Amino acid sequence: YVGNVSHELKTPIFSIQGYIATLLDGGIDDPAINTKYLEKADKAIQRMTSIVRDLDAITRLETGELKPDKTNFNIITLVKEVFEAQEFLAQSHKVTLILEAIHDKPIMVCADRKYIHMVLSNLTANAIKYNISEGGKVTVKFYDMDAFLLIEVVDTGIGIPQSDQKRIFERFYRVDRSRSREQGGTGLGLSIVKHIIEAHEQTIHVKSTINKGSSFTFTLEKSK
Ligand code: ADP
Repeated sequence: YVGNVSHELKTPIFSIQGYIATLLDGGIDDPAINTKYLEKADKAIQRMTSIVRDLDAITRLETGELKPDKTNFNIITLVKEVFEAQEFLAQSHKVTLILEAIHDKPIMVCADRKYIHMVLSNLTANAIKYNISEGGKVTVKFYDMDAFLLIEVVDTGIGIPQSDQKRIFERFYRVDRSRSREQGGTGLGLSIVKHIIEAHEQTIHVKSTINKGSSFTFTLEKSK
C-alpha cells in the first residue's frame, strides 16, 4: 500500500521536476512554452493535492477518527444539491441528470449528511465521467425496503468488465488508468465511498454491463 502511494505520487512529482528544470534552463524566456509549462506543473500539483486529500480522508475513516455524525434529513434535497454542484461537469459531458423520486414527498434518512453528500458526489461524478460521449443519462432512484432505503445511481456509460467489478473499491484501482487520469481521477473515490457506507454499517454493490452502463446501489437507515 505504501508502495502504491509513492508510485502514484511519483508521476506528478517527476513531471513538476521536468517542467521546472526546463524553465530554469532558459525555457522561462521562451514565450512558446513558459506559460504552458507552468500550467502543466500547476495541474500536476493539483493532482498531488487531490491524492493527499483523499488519502487523508481514507486514513481518518479507517482509524475511526471520522465517525458518522447521524442526523435525520431529506435525501431528495441532498440529491438536488449534488446535481446542482455537478451540473457543469454533466453539461460538459453532454449528460443529463435525472432524479426519479417515488413521489414528491420528502424521504427522510438517518445518516451523516456530509458523508452521504460525498458518496453521492463521487458516484454521480463517476457516472458522468464514464458515460457515453454524448446523450448519456445518470439517474438516481430510491427503493423502499421497510427500515431501510435503497439508493441507486445508474448510468448509460461504458460499463465495467466483470473481472474488475470486485476490485474497483480498492485504493488506486482503475479499469482504464489513462481515462481516469484524463478525467482528473485519483482512483480513491470508490474506496472512500465504501469506507463511508461501511462506517454506517451498510453495504454497497455494483452491477454493470459493458457498453450498457453501471448501477451502484447502497442502503441507508430510514428515520424512525
Ligand atoms: P477514479 O478517480 O479513477 O474515478 P474511483 O475509485 O472513483 O477512481 O473509481 C475506480 C475505477 O472504477 C475508475 O477508474 C473506473 O475505471 C471505474 N468506474 C467507477 N465508476 C464507474 C462507472 N460509473 N462506469 C464505469 N466505470 C466506473
